[in-house]
Amino acid sequence: MKYIFVSGGVISGIGKGVATASIALKIGSAGFKVAPLKIDPYLNVDAGTMNPIHHGEVFVLDDGSETDQDLGNYERFLDEPLNKTNYATSGQVYLSVIQRERSLGYDGDCVEAVPHIPEEIIRRIDEAGKSKKADIAVIEIGGTVGEMQNVFIFEANRMLKLKKPEDVIHIHLSYLPIPPSLGEMKSKPVQMSVKELNSMGIQPDILLARSGVPVDEIRRKKLALFCSVEPEDIISAPDVRNIYEVPVNYEDGGLSGRILQKLRLKRKNKDLKEWRKFESKVSSADKPLKIGIVGKYFSTGDFTLADSYISVIEALKHAAFTQGYKPEIAWIDSGKLLKDIDQLRDYQGIIVPGGFGSRDIEGKIEAIRFCRVNKIPYFGLCYGMQLAVVEYARNVLRMAEANTTEIDPKTKYPVIHIMSDQQKKLLEKDYGGTMRLGAWECKLKPGSLVRKLYGKPKISERHRHRYEFNNEFLKQFNKELYVSGTSPDGKLVEIVEMKDHPFFVGTQFHPELKSRPLDPHPLFMGFIKAASKIILPS
Ligand code: GLN
Repeated sequence: MKYIFVSGGVISGIGKGVATASIALKIGSAGFKVAPLKIDPYLNVDAGTMNPIHHGEVFVLDDGSETDQDLGNYERFLDEPLNKTNYATSGQVYLSVIQRERSLGYDGDCVEAVPHIPEEIIRRIDEAGKSKKADIAVIEIGGTVGEMQNVFIFEANRMLKLKKPEDVIHIHLSYLPIPPSLGEMKSKPVQMSVKELNSMGIQPDILLARSGVPVDEIRRKKLALFCSVEPEDIISAPDVRNIYEVPVNYEDGGLSGRILQKLRLKRKNKDLKEWRKFESKVSSADKPLKIGIVGKYFSTGDFTLADSYISVIEALKHAAFTQGYKPEIAWIDSGKLLKDIDQLRDYQGIIVPGGFGSRDIEGKIEAIRFCRVNKIPYFGLCYGMQLAVVEYARNVLRMAEANTTEIDPKTKYPVIHIMSDQQKKLLEKDYGGTMRLGAWECKLKPGSLVRKLYGKPKISERHRHRYEFNNEFLKQFNKELYVSGTSPDGKLVEIVEMKDHPFFVGTQFHPELKSRPLDPHPLFMGFIKAASKIILPS
């Protein structure tokens, strides 16, 4: 197997995940089997215990791993499901080393940070490669060059290169600022971050030059000289209008050719055709479509917000672009909604996404009522499904205090509740990796909207929640708002939908996690189609 390490320099947030996903896509489309792998420096064992506002969305895989949002980029770009071997954290790495030491796995050796931590990292990279029968592993090093947190990951890179000099390359994505007061692109920060890499024993083979605009010849030459790379190994990575342009840009800059040459591989085929087709749909979609996302995380600024719901946003885009619409997504703060519920009339569709806890919950419930009564397309994802059940129970079934026991454990009408196995975990404070996670099968009711949209009777979708629909109330949910999807044994309610409504669907799972640019999710397709038929008052 060959190895491509990808690191980031100067600042975070310049799209290292998308760059890694694009590299994997390009190598894949050149005819090689790729295993992408993200190694996060955190001591958390997985992303499940991290606050999405600080760390971005938790991306759940089929096998139930709770991973970094970059895994979402990998799956969306590569159009294939990944597994737990494609994600590691320092926490997992240290845990494995210490557990192995406790079981005498090192035969009485003195166990040390170096070489044992980097060796465990290398073992995991090889495991990810084996699991995909990969020709090439593409490893994204979490964090930025110059941090103390990720030095062992760089050390793994150095040790591997030492062992297999011809099979390992390093791509460094770094930032060239254009300070407004100077009005020119500055290359010194990139030189400094390459120096920092050098001090860890790593010489980058390729530089991806991120900036507002493409790098010019003068700076290309300067960077080449000071960073010891060939000028043609500096690939421009200017800002783009949408992330789907990134692989196309890299292709035009000759990136995959340079990678293959350095790894002494011959291109087997050349095909970004489907990708280019989707990208041109993205650029040409011009009919605006106004979608509102109602949630509580909105006081933290748009930047982090978009990261917390990235898969929902991407799924909306995939379905909208495919149908020629340009989604205009607005964040609606559920905390302020009660004062002005009529603002929802400005949208063609409303989403209540996943969430936890009781803050600003009444605003979400009121938004759902408004969509139900006014026939505005509504899509509830996980918490959004549970709250749709609460809303209907309260306002239609006349159970005034109906609630989920997550908010009111003593409610008279616990329409959403926690099952005993989950309750036990909470009592024991056994939080990490213990929700209902990963892929679960669901059978769809004949004649339902979801059955029509999926076009098949049985599906598999990804979950991440503790609470469930309470089957004691099943009888009441068979008229207007009815159960249209359950687990194959019929015991768990997975989907509810509303009759005589343009689109009112709540899913206990997270459909957004399985939407792909080249294969948009059927429920998002249905939601966008219904939304496109809503004519807004001008
Ligand atoms: N808080 C709810 C639960 O745990 C919903 C979780 C979610 O939306 N992902 O069941």
